[in-house]
Amino acid sequence: MPTNGKYMHWWSTLMAGSVAALAASSAATALESPRLVLQITVDGLRADMPQRYAHHYGEGGWRYLLEQGTRYVNAHYQHANTETIVGHVSLATGAYPANHGMVANVWFDREAGALHYNIEDPDHKLLTAGGGIDRSTEIDPTQRAARSDGRSPRAIRVSTFSDELASFTGGKAKVFAVSVKDRGAVSMAGHAGTAYWFSKATGTFVTSDYYAERYPAWVESWNAEAHAQRYANADWKLTGNVATYMFGDADDRPWEIDFPTWGRTFPHPYGAGDSKYFTTFLTLSPAGDELTLDFAKALVENEGVGQDAVTDYLAISFSSTDYINHLFGPSSLEAEENQQRLDRTLAELFRFIEEKVGLSRTLIVLSADHGSPEAPGYLNELGIQGGYFDPKSIAREPAIEALKQRFGIGEELIETYFHPYLYLNREVIREHGLDQGQVERAVAAELVNFPGVALAVSSQALLKGDLADTWLMRSVLRNHDPDRSGDIYIIFAPHVFINDFDGLSVAAAHGSPWRYDTHVPVIFAGHGVGSARIVRPVTPYDIAPSLSAYLGINPPSGSRGQPLHEVLQQDGR
Ligand SMILES: [Zn+2]
Repeated sequence: MPTNGKYMHWWSTLMAGSVAALAASSAATALESPRLVLQITVDGLRADMPQRYAHHYGEGGWRYLLEQGTRYVNAHYQHANTETIVGHVSLATGAYPANHGMVANVWFDREAGALHYNIEDPDHKLLTAGGGIDRSTEIDPTQRAARSDGRSPRAIRVSTFSDELASFTGGKAKVFAVSVKDRGAVSMAGHAGTAYWFSKATGTFVTSDYYAERYPAWVESWNAEAHAQRYANADWKLTGNVATYMFGDADDRPWEIDFPTWGRTFPHPYGAGDSKYFTTFLTLSPAGDELTLDFAKALVENEGVGQDAVTDYLAISFSSTDYINHLFGPSSLEAEENQQRLDRTLAELFRFIEEKVGLSRTLIVLSADHGSPEAPGYLNELGIQGGYFDPKSIAREPAIEALKQRFGIGEELIETYFHPYLYLNREVIREHGLDQGQVERAVAAELVNFPGVALAVSSQALLKGDLADTWLMRSVLRNHDPDRSGDIYIIFAPHVFINDFDGLSVAAAHGSPWRYDTHVPVIFAGHGVGSARIVRPVTPYDIAPSLSAYLGINPPSGSRGQPLHEVLQQDGR
């Protein structure tokens, strides 16, 4: 006779002869697997942000998650490079970047002698002609590094939760991911699912021939409806009375980016539907998330997601929060207004899922790929230090020049810097008969003396294991891939970052191992999940193994996190 609580409840209910009560009880629903796993990622959402702007929220959005979900308030990434692809793939796989291989948004491909954008793949062209990046308008410096418009998940070295679900169900699970950012969707769809993302060049959602030979008819017609055009000649305006906002009297701050025509203050005009930066502005505002939701709704309806007993998977990554943090900082009127609008977007998503699938049949998890720093200007006003660092200056520093003289190197010693790695000119080092590890250590020893640099780690020394075993060093090691990582990992001091990306500047840039960048929300809700606030330390790598344990399937192949017992035990699993 099983003695677990769920069985006893079921047994005593039957004994009482109340079959109707059984059908209605939550224990009865919990016996079935969820019909849908809905994984929401809010790009760049630092853990304090949802609660901080809660005075603006209505019913059914953030409040549903914060009040009815199981919330982990002390969740931190443990890898050093807190960037978008790195975090998304960590969420999808439960693995450290050292194992899943996505160590940076961009790395230097030594064989090709060129930068490589994480998911670029020349073998898998987009299905939409001209749907790739438009170099004359693209402001995302990582996208600009790509040499090809093709995209696929082939560079991800381990399986994702979505891969395991596809495998467990014999390919019957429907697996989809949607985002404004290509890397926000490709990461989560894994190798077995289908990813759709927003093309700023065409104003439509696109995919590559890795996933399909042609678009399903519903995608063609959704795109033909030109949903983006509803924002043409409109403004991003404040929803409420300006006096109700924490930052209501601080709209115009000097550190915010004054992008031409978009400006630093409300209202922000989208401009004409065919103007140069129209689709870019959509992504820099709540419109990007709203379009993502609209597309996801059409997807659920047309693909029949969550409609049968086989558990399906839908990942939605909302990108607007990240772009707004970069332009204005997380402590800005724009960020505050955006959280309010995200609340409405989430409320509409949950209303729709309740109608189409049922929230009690949907297991929801929400997290973020990384947090966000404050803009240095904002901190400086409060008396807190913060500033910027220019990596282009490294090669010109007298200390580096002196080092080159010592080694007898006349040519460039530094191949390139792309966050977070410095790449040395290995050919020159070899030609001079020098030892790579020795040169790395010598350069790193100079770099730590630069103002704004907290730590510089030689990759060879790191792999040899002869560096101090500190938490920072471990975060760099968890980020290390022998083929893709650079020669020296540079960690800037807290609140110091690069703000000049290829001529484009930002107010704030994440990507550090400091707490503001590693702290993200982890919230489970729906299906058999109850209300709880958990303070014990957990990691976002725990999410994929938790989803796997919840469904009783294999964890992803490289996963290092552990199932979160608070989520599993509520359901008696
Ligand atoms: Zn991101």
